[in-house]
Amino acid sequence: MILPGATLGMLGGGQLGRMFVVAARTMGYRTIVLDPDPQSPAGEIADYHLMAEYEDAHALDRLARECAAVTTEFENIPASTLERLALHCIVSPGSLAVSTTQNRIYEKSFLRDHGFPTAPFAFIENEADLVNAFETIKAPAILKVSRFGYDGKGQAKVMAFQEALSAWNAMKREPCVLEGLVPLDTEVSVILARGIDNEMAVYPLSENSHANGVLDITVVPAHVSHELIDEAQTIARKIALHLEYVGVLAVEFFISHGKLLVNEIAPRPHNSGHYTIDACVTSQYEQQVRALCGLPLGETRLLSPVAMVNLLGDLWRNGEPHWEQILKSPRAKLHLYGKREARPGRKMGHYTCLAPTAIEARDEALKIQRELERYCS
Ligand code: AMP
Repeated sequence: MILPGATLGMLGGGQLGRMFVVAARTMGYRTIVLDPDPQSPAGEIADYHLMAEYEDAHALDRLARECAAVTTEFENIPASTLERLALHCIVSPGSLAVSTTQNRIYEKSFLRDHGFPTAPFAFIENEADLVNAFETIKAPAILKVSRFGYDGKGQAKVMAFQEALSAWNAMKREPCVLEGLVPLDTEVSVILARGIDNEMAVYPLSENSHANGVLDITVVPAHVSHELIDEAQTIARKIALHLEYVGVLAVEFFISHGKLLVNEIAPRPHNSGHYTIDACVTSQYEQQVRALCGLPLGETRLLSPVAMVNLLGDLWRNGEPHWEQILKSPRAKLHLYGKREARPGRKMGHYTCLAPTAIEARDEALKIQRELERYCS
């Protein structure tokens, strides 16, 4: 076990890294964040911000020398970085999980090879693939670039072959996945942690609504059947096993015609798990520390129904949002990530509302969202 007093490294300095740093420092660990951005939200509050690229040999050597263990908040870390660090210190998740999930083609191949249900898909590496894929998948479909896409970026809905071709050209003919656009009953996600001793702790299912491809609101408990909850949690456990996963993992699902389809896997804590900070015995970030350090995993029990709403940069269009709309509610908790520049679509913070029922939590969260919008327009 790595105990408090030791130094933990974080690859990536966004909001997920920041919330890890808060949890780690609360527990008495020292933290070092590697991120090239001088204004990194996690770097700003870590004990030390190593401002360098993720492949910088000197920076990696320093991280390996000073840290007992290193983890990540972001799937685009080069596998070679994880492998280099793993020669000198504990690194989790490992390069297999990160390299599989950072590329949609590898991720979909992994899901197909292990028999997990997904929306229909085909891979595109050349124009002939696009012709064949479009014939098999048919419109409506969604073209997704295989690497570096997130929050609906690097994606295009396509209704006809010509549209798919122009979208692919706009993506500079990068390798892509063409997916059938499935009708959504709803979307859910499972967050779990797996320790080095194979112990697993699974969080309650999150029910997620998106706006413009970005998570808008998460409500827990999810309004879906117990059978679907069990099935989603079982699939997520199996995915963790097959990826030989250690750390916190998120699996996003579509529910289409009452059936679960795996959408994406994230080798890190997840936006739809922010609610665990205010509403669970152990937050996903404390759990990340526990899994990384070989501590027993914490309980995932929900203490209260909860709704979480993302605060995107659009809200800043007329200056600083009216925070009193959140703060005046005794059931709401505001979390801001310290990002200086608010851009449309950029995740600047979130808030959670705790209430006796999921419906009340969601209604309160939506009421606050309407007020925030009203005051900024
Ligand atoms: P992704 O970045 O792949 O998670 O996509 C962002 C959001 O777009 C998802 O959460 C869905 O709301 C929507 N979406 C993506 N792929 C599909 C699909 N094949 N069918 C229906 N909706 C989708």
